[in-house]
Amino acid sequence: YSPIHVIGGGLAGSEAAWQIAEAGVPVILHEMRGVRGTDAHKTDGLAELVCSNSFRSDDATSNAVGVLHAEMRLAGSLIMQAADRNQVPAGGALAVDRDGFSQAVSAQIESHPLISLVREEISDLPPSEWDLAIVATGPLTAPALAEAIRRETGADALAFFDAIAPIVYTETIDMDICWHQSRYDKVGPGGTGKDYINCPMTEEQYNAFVDALIASDKTGFKEWEGTPYFDGCLPIEVMAERGRETLRHGPMKPMGLTNAHNPSVKPYAVVQLRQDNALGTLYNMVGFQTKLKYGAQTDVFRMIPGLENAEFARLGGLHRNTYINSPTLLDHSLTLKSRPGLRFAGQITGCEGYVESASVGLLAGRFAAAERKGEAPSLPPATTAFGALLNHITGGHIVSDDEPGKRSFQPMNINFGLFPPLEPGALTRPEGAKRFRGKEKALAKKQATAARALGDCADWLG
Ligand code: FAD
Repeated sequence: YSPIHVIGGGLAGSEAAWQIAEAGVPVILHEMRGVRGTDAHKTDGLAELVCSNSFRSDDATSNAVGVLHAEMRLAGSLIMQAADRNQVPAGGALAVDRDGFSQAVSAQIESHPLISLVREEISDLPPSEWDLAIVATGPLTAPALAEAIRRETGADALAFFDAIAPIVYTETIDMDICWHQSRYDKVGPGGTGKDYINCPMTEEQYNAFVDALIASDKTGFKEWEGTPYFDGCLPIEVMAERGRETLRHGPMKPMGLTNAHNPSVKPYAVVQLRQDNALGTLYNMVGFQTKLKYGAQTDVFRMIPGLENAEFARLGGLHRNTYINSPTLLDHSLTLKSRPGLRFAGQITGCEGYVESASVGLLAGRFAAAERKGEAPSLPPATTAFGALLNHITGGHIVSDDEPGKRSFQPMNINFGLFPPLEPGALTRPEGAKRFRGKEKALAKKQATAARALGDCADWLG
């Protein structure tokens, strides 16, 4: 076979190269560190962990990232092999010795007979001679390549910062307090006039909420990130600091909304949540991008009427992060629709985190190797963690209903909200259990979803 080119030797690119080589296809892996650094990496090692040394929970029975670990191990992941061999004690989490981990990945890649590692910056999209290639250059893609991607995809399709609003599991929203309604009952394309979930606030509740936002702990931007306040994309707490009424005239405006539970009392302010995935299992808090610390976010956002018991699939953030609008640009096997043979992998596709990035690298590597062998890429079932993540990246997200054309795609960690619901009757009350609701039922659901994922993944891998 002629080689497949992989650009970027981070978490995704190293895993992609490994999967391709293990499939018997040669790979040329191009990594710029050694010649040019990034603002966050400190070494020249492959798969360097730029911040925390944790791969998060390793519980494959009831935690979504733990399920992803297990699926990656089933698929012969290099990243998981190196992580398991360099584990340090961290309770139920999989944490690693970062240097040992990166050295293990580098050694395996450098010694593989089918992988050639070239230390160079790639400054343009792959030339036509590279008929199969994978771009895995991560959140800090070097500027020249980012510019080339932007020329190919269009300016609106490449972001340099994310602006992440918290996402709530729909089933944890109290619908005895909240109600479904679009502002002014507006019906957008595919909409019903009831597309949003609304949380009403009295004047007293609003004031207490604004005070809490201002008083809570925040994280700062790193010096090299700059301060990306643009496009009306201000963090919610910065808006609150600009004046007590700012939020009530911005994302929390009550106009055009009538509380279905109490139509005669006009809410003083309203927090709106918008459907975040096609399954309807997740809703995001509209306009609530934030730099509040995670602990502060759960405390403050649970002050919102109807969200007192909210569970968050993802908390908010605002970071330097290069990523493309994958749902419109990529097909289901991660190929750029405008350039057959060119795939994207890792965080640049809009997944978030070490494990997710590596797993998207794993998929892209397998798909590219299959293509080189003249086979159709085999897509993982939607019920697996691989499939759930792939669906988030390549489709299944909701385009904003009342703001046509506005991108609603934001990076995401793996979470159970991305998995399809269980089949009816899949959950049965455990023998002898007195109660089967609330936390017990939520746990049983996670366990059943995890078991289904691992079974289907094993079948998929054959
Ligand atoms: P990377 O691991 O960044 O790999 C991309 C590689 O491509 C790099 O080695 C880079 O040198 C190379 N490259 C870039 N441009 C070119 C080019 N033009 N030519 C050749 N090579 C190129 N995730 C977590 O799970 N936990 C955390 O604590 C965490 N903290 C983070 C902190 C910061 C400051 C940042 C920026 C990100 C953080 N992330 C964290 C996200 C994490 O970096 C990614 O999830 C993960 O590293 C992405 O893997 P990747 O392979 O897509 O990109």
